[in-house]
Amino acid sequence: MAMGSGSICSFCGRRRDQVRSMITGLSGAVICDECINKCKKIIDDEFNPPSPKADLPPDFTLASLKIPTEIHANLDKYIIGQEKAKKIISVAVYNHYKRLLSNQDKVNQDQTELTKSNILLVGPTGSGKTLIAQTVARFLDVPLAIADATTLTEAGYVGEDVENVLSRLLQVAGGNLRKAEMGIVFIDEIDKLSRKSENPSITRDVSGEGVQQALLKMIEGTLANVPQNAGGRKHPQGDFIQMNTTNILFICSGSFAGIEDIISQRVNKRTIGFETAAQKKEKEQKKDTIYEEVLPDDLLKFGLIPELIGRLPVVAALNELDKTAMLEILTKPQNALAKQYQKLLRYDNVDLRFTPEALQEIVEIALKRKTGARALRSVVESIMLDIMYNAPADKEQREIVVDKDTVLEVYARRQVEPDSKIA
Ligand code: ADP
Repeated sequence: MAMGSGSICSFCGRRRDQVRSMITGLSGAVICDECINKCKKIIDDEFNPPSPKADLPPDFTLASLKIPTEIHANLDKYIIGQEKAKKIISVAVYNHYKRLLSNQDKVNQDQTELTKSNILLVGPTGSGKTLIAQTVARFLDVPLAIADATTLTEAGYVGEDVENVLSRLLQVAGGNLRKAEMGIVFIDEIDKLSRKSENPSITRDVSGEGVQQALLKMIEGTLANVPQNAGGRKHPQGDFIQMNTTNILFICSGSFAGIEDIISQRVNKRTIGFETAAQKKEKEQKKDTIYEEVLPDDLLKFGLIPELIGRLPVVAALNELDKTAMLEILTKPQNALAKQYQKLLRYDNVDLRFTPEALQEIVEIALKRKTGARALRSVVESIMLDIMYNAPADKEQREIVVDKDTVLEVYARRQVEPDSKIA
């Protein structure tokens, strides 16, 4: 074997000038450095299967586990509505951590091994999917890493390696490997991972099959080589650490735009022909809660690959937030937006008050943006700008009331189209 100047890699077809180095074999076959790395990874994965049991911290006991009703009660403090999803997640999270204890249990005589149940959250943008994961992680005091599936690429390509997500988890855990190995990884936009090519060979398939395979392995449980600094690829010489992902809870999430139609087609199959007015009304009412009826079959029809569906057996659906829910989100949760601005202005001796009509108007504007509760923040922020700008200059204690006119005036003056899509 010799270092050669062979022109094209026999595996991926890249030219000499597209890679760092090429190695030529005796028969004239050529392989580039990136394909060598890939081959090494395949062999490593094959010969280093994950150790079945990652060590748990000594203080992790059955008594220390949070039970479903406690997890649910905590979620209630921060998340409005989504009752069914909250219940499913509370049970799934409890079961996940019970499973870790059970599989570790040395006196466990019955040989029954509890399998991993990762979670899939399905629901429209801004309905609380990320917030649920954040709230659960905070309550359980476990590290949480959030990633966007669309930015992930196979190891070695431009973009974010799947392993970098684990690296971030390690960082959030303050470098404590044991803690990281019991953390939560939240992968958003999972519905956007589509299989781009039918060819399973080593090709430059950046966002499709390769990423899915890497993700699947990580979700199921593997020994991953994790760069110790999140910059991973930018410091190729950096240290790697082996992380066992068996005990990490993966929560995947996606808006699955269009899945409502697939579900309602199935649910409303019976109404073929003319619909009565009553049937029409019922269908209309069901529209808000249609996500709750999602089944694995619908996900398959949507285009999620069966292997991924199989690894995400707990499916929780979140519904589109209606006007009432949006109003509550403004004022009720522990971190409600209204409460946050009131707190901010208290430092400037201001008692801030929103009239019910102002809140209604804010919700109306936000709803038009079609980004769920996410739009609320930017709407309130623009309304509050002048108030927050002027308030500190006036040292007198006073009350500022935001009423409907304040809201409308700000929106008219800024000439912000209320139906602008920018959140
Ligand atoms: P997504 O479903 O797209 O992941 P997020 O959870 O990121 O949406 O929601 C964005 C923001 O909207 C949250 O930070 C929170 O302020 C607010 N929000 C969304 N849904 C809810 C909800 N059900 N209850 C309370 N706040 C919510």
